[in-house]
Amino acid sequence: MTRSTYPQYLNRCGWNALLPARENIRPLDGDRHVSLAVIGAGYTGLGAARRWAELEPSDDIAIVDSSQLGEGNPGRNSGFLLEIALANDADPTQMARMSECNRLIGATMRKLCGLVADHEIDCELERAGTYRAAAGDAGRRALASYEQFLERAGLPWERLDRDQLESRLGTRFYAEGLYSPHCYLAQPAALIRGLADALPPSVTIYESTPALSIEPLQTGWRVRTPAGALACDRLVLANNAFTKQLGVGRSRLVAMYTYAGLTAPLPARVLGTLGRVENWGLLPAHRLGSTLRRTRDGRLLIRSHYGYERETDNGRIAARLADGLRRRYPQLQKVAFEHVWAGATGFTFNGSPIWGEHAPGLFVSSGCNGGGVVKGTLFGELLADLAAGRAVPDMRRLFGNASWMPPEPIRELGFRIISGLERRQGRAEM
Ligand SMILES: Cc1cc2nc3c(=O)[nH]c(=O)nc-3n(C[C@H](O)[C@H](O)[C@H](O)COP(=O)(O)OP(=O)(O)OC[C@H]3O[C@@H](n4cnc5c(N)ncnc54)[C@H](O)[C@@H]3O)c2cc1C
Repeated sequence: MTRSTYPQYLNRCGWNALLPARENIRPLDGDRHVSLAVIGAGYTGLGAARRWAELEPSDDIAIVDSSQLGEGNPGRNSGFLLEIALANDADPTQMARMSECNRLIGATMRKLCGLVADHEIDCELERAGTYRAAAGDAGRRALASYEQFLERAGLPWERLDRDQLESRLGTRFYAEGLYSPHCYLAQPAALIRGLADALPPSVTIYESTPALSIEPLQTGWRVRTPAGALACDRLVLANNAFTKQLGVGRSRLVAMYTYAGLTAPLPARVLGTLGRVENWGLLPAHRLGSTLRRTRDGRLLIRSHYGYERETDNGRIAARLADGLRRRYPQLQKVAFEHVWAGATGFTFNGSPIWGEHAPGLFVSSGCNGGGVVKGTLFGELLADLAAGRAVPDMRRLFGNASWMPPEPIRELGFRIISGLERRQGRAEM
């Protein structure tokens, strides 16, 4: 089956629906030549464009995105900006390497905070920290391993039992948890829109402009889009799960869809039962578990479930998400979601990215593995450094290199077997 070269979602992005509609959406119409072209206006693509503009201020830069700012994938996440490794990445046996990764990610987070402050980006950014919690045995084992990582890294955390979690978050669902301060929460659609608006004038973003194909020229590359083409000296692919549709990472990348449901602001009488913390985020200790958030305006968000390479019917998903919320908050029997949506993330077998110069003049960063707001920004910036011939950290040593996967249909079968086993182990966390 031929798949589209870009994501097309069934439902609107809930975070974006809360913001005013944007005007002056500009698709690419006709042909242009630029020094640097970027495919994908996500955290990675904007990071690459912003850094290139810093290094080469007189160069013209163009970004094409199939979606509109805020509506596409970068606006669809849960809004956790992690300053340290995710539980699934954190390896307590590799502390020197992990500390170096954390140092780079932390420095990138400080830059993002600087951009938000300098450009007065209204995206509700707050260092709320993050809870990680487990309901069953598999989750508790993952939590213990993450605690070991935090301890070895000398990072602060607080261990919480069921009663303490209930007093803060209003749920007795979790047997135990950890709170650590190294995480910001934000409204992701507002964040990506603001970051795009903060780019210098040398960068033009063409929205609603999917890249249909790329091809090498005698010098440089050409990107074909529905109503025109971009020729460029250097090309950056920052379109995450969809680089493989443009020919890069076919044997190393899959698109995994995951889903979020966001309630309307809950009435004060319900909020009164949801614990004393008003703005918080909880990540699952087990990788197939659910993410939860309570927002400042009194909404609850739940993110859960995965779909292999295609989006599942959102009605079925909404029912499952509602069930997950009710199991955590039995008092919410009648609560419905205001918005339910999907987002596609690029997954690799070993959790490492595809990063580097793929062919002369063609630079790629893809395979975010579900945690790429801050890391994507870092990878995009470093890709611009690499493209400019500057020294970059040893990315393979620090973050690894996406490993090979067997072709279809074995790949999908393998995925279904592994995820089925993991789901059984981690079903208490869903
Ligand atoms: C529901 C959900 C919750 C998540 N929660 C979190 C979280 O809390 N924290 C976190 O760090 N990460 C989270 N993630 C993952 C996070 O969204 C990604 O890691 C992050 O967005 C990656 O950034 P990126 O710029 O590399 O890629 P993306 O954000 O995927 O951006 C790629 C861009 O490329 C565009 N594109 C794709 N194909 C084409 C094409 N052919 N032509 C033109 N444009 C194209 C897309 O429209 C998109 O705008 C979540 C993901 C989902 C789906």
